[in-house]
Amino acid sequence: MKISHKLYVRVALSIALISVLVSLASSTLSYYSGLDERKATNYLLVGQLAKTMEKTAAIAAYLADRELSQEIVNGLLSNDLVKGVSISGEANMVIAQGSINNQTERVSIKLMHPFITDSQVGTLNLYPDDKYIQQQAKKASKKEVMLMLLHSIVIAFFVSLMVHRRLTRPIQNLTDSFASINPSDPQTMRMLLLKNGARDEIGKLVTGINSLMHELHITINNERELRQKTQELESKFRLIFEQASAGICLLDEDNMVTTHNPAFARYFTIADNSDMATLHFPQLLNNVEKLQELLNEIRREDTLDQITLDIECTVGQTTKWMHCLFAKLSDQRNSQRNNQSCLIEVILHDVTERAEREFQTRFEADHDPLTHLLNRRAGEKMLHKALFDSIKNRHSLVLMMIDLDKFKPVNDTYGHEAGDKVLIEIARRIKNRFCLPTDICIRWGGDEFVVARQIANFDQQLSGQQAEGILEDILAPIHVSEYEKCEIGASIGIVIGPNDGKVLHELMVNADNTMYQVKEKGRGHVAFFDSKKHL
Ligand code: GH3
Ligand code: MG
Repeated sequence: MKISHKLYVRVALSIALISVLVSLASSTLSYYSGLDERKATNYLLVGQLAKTMEKTAAIAAYLADRELSQEIVNGLLSNDLVKGVSISGEANMVIAQGSINNQTERVSIKLMHPFITDSQVGTLNLYPDDKYIQQQAKKASKKEVMLMLLHSIVIAFFVSLMVHRRLTRPIQNLTDSFASINPSDPQTMRMLLLKNGARDEIGKLVTGINSLMHELHITINNERELRQKTQELESKFRLIFEQASAGICLLDEDNMVTTHNPAFARYFTIADNSDMATLHFPQLLNNVEKLQELLNEIRREDTLDQITLDIECTVGQTTKWMHCLFAKLSDQRNSQRNNQSCLIEVILHDVTERAEREFQTRFEADHDPLTHLLNRRAGEKMLHKALFDSIKNRHSLVLMMIDLDKFKPVNDTYGHEAGDKVLIEIARRIKNRFCLPTDICIRWGGDEFVVARQIANFDQQLSGQQAEGILEDILAPIHVSEYEKCEIGASIGIVIGPNDGKVLHELMVNADNTMYQVKEKGRGHVAFFDSKKHL
C-alpha cells in the first residue's frame, strides 16, 4: 500500500494542514488587528509626547523663537515614533520643522498663550513614523505567527499521535488481520485481537467481527463437510451411472432422451457425441405407438409409478429384447410440475438370451417337436378359446379331424425315420393351407391332425372344398429318401362349432366319429358331421 494511502498518514497530514491553515488565518487576522492597535497606541504615545513638549513649544511659538523651536523639533525627532515635526506660529507661519514630507496623518496640538487663556499662539504638528509602526507591528505579528505555528504543530503532532494510537493503529491492525484472512483456508480465520480489550466503538467492531467470523467459520466448515459428502456421493452415483451394466436414461415430457449412460449408448450403438435433442426414445424400440401410449399412461395415472416389461428392438440387423423399467421421477422439482410433463427414468437390460430361451421353452412346451405344430395340450386350449370366441361373436368354428390312411405301412416299408419325414411334410402342407393368424393347426397324436378356422358366414361348400384341397395336398408324392417317394391319403371328419358341439369335448367326439365313419367307408375322402346319423 502506498504510504500516502495509509489512514494515519492522511489523518496526520489533514490535522497538520488544518492547524497550519488555522494558524495562518488567525495570524493574518491578528496581524491586521495588531497593526491598527499598534498604530492607535503609537498615535496615543506620540500625542502624549507632544503633550510633554506643549508648554515649551507654546513659549517658543509665543516668542517666535526659531532656535528654541528647532531644539524642540530636534528633540521630538529623536524619538523613533516621530517621523516629522513642525511648530507654527500665528497665521500658521512655520517657525521650525523637521523631516516633513507629504504625510497627512499627524497629531496636532494647539499651542496656547502662556498668559492669556483661550488664546492660541500656534500649532505643534507631530507626524508619527508609520513605516516604523508598521515594522513593529509586523515584527510582533511574525513572532505571534511563529508561536501560533509552533503551538499548532505541537498540538497537531500530539493529536495525530493520539489519533494514531487510539484510532488509526487499531484500525490498521484490524485491516492487517483482515488482509491475512483467506476464506478458502479456515486456518487463517483467527479471532481478531485488540490490545487492552478496548470497550470503545473499535472494540465493539472487533467483537462484532469476531462473532461474525465465528459464525462464518462454522458455516464454512459445515458447508465444506456437506460439499465433501455431496461430492463423494456424486462420484459414487456417477460411478454407478457410468459403469452400470444396465442402460439408464431420462426422458422429458416429449419422450426425448435428455441424458443417458454409456451402457445405454452401447445398447443402441449411439455415438458419444450424438445430439440427444433428436433421440426420441420410443423410436429406438419396436412398436413405437404402443410404447408412447404406455409412457403417457404412466404419466397420466397417479397410482402407476413404475412399470416393467420386455420390449423388442432392432439395432442394425439384430433383434434384441430389452427388459425395461419405467419409473416416474417425482422429486420436489418435479412434483411442482403436472404429471403430463414429469420426467421418466428408464433402466434397461439386454435380456435377448433369456427371452430367446423363454421363447424356446414356451415353444417347446406348446409345440410338437417333430412337426412344430401345436401339441395336443396347447391345441386344446386354443380350441377352447376359439369355440368360446365363435359363440361370443356368432361365428362358426370349422374343425377338421385328419387321420392319415394306412400310415403304419410307410413306417414298415421305409422305416420310422421315413415315416417321420412324411409326418413333417404333411404338417407343413396343412400349415400352408391354414395360414391365417387365427387358424389353429394341431398334431393331435400319431398320424392324426386337427385344424380349425373361425368363419363369420359358414359356407359348407367352401369348407368342403378346403378339406378336399388338404386331401389333394396330402396326396402329393413325398420323398422319403433320395430315390424313393411315397403317396399317402387321409380321411377327414368335419364338425362345425357350436352347431355340432357346444363344448369342445362334444365337438371333438363328433369329429372323431365322423372321421372314423370315413375310414369305415373306405378312407380317402371328406365327411361333414351329420347329427341325424349319430342320434
Ligand atoms: P388307418 O388307416 O386305420 O389309420 O391305419 P394306420 O396305418 O394309419 O394306423 P393308425 O392310424 O391306427 O396308427 C398310426 C400309426 O402311426 C401307428 C404308429 O406306428 C405310427 N406312428 C405314430 N406316431 C408316429 C411317429 O411319431 N413317427 C412315426 N414314424 N410313426 C408314428
Ligand atoms: Mg392312420
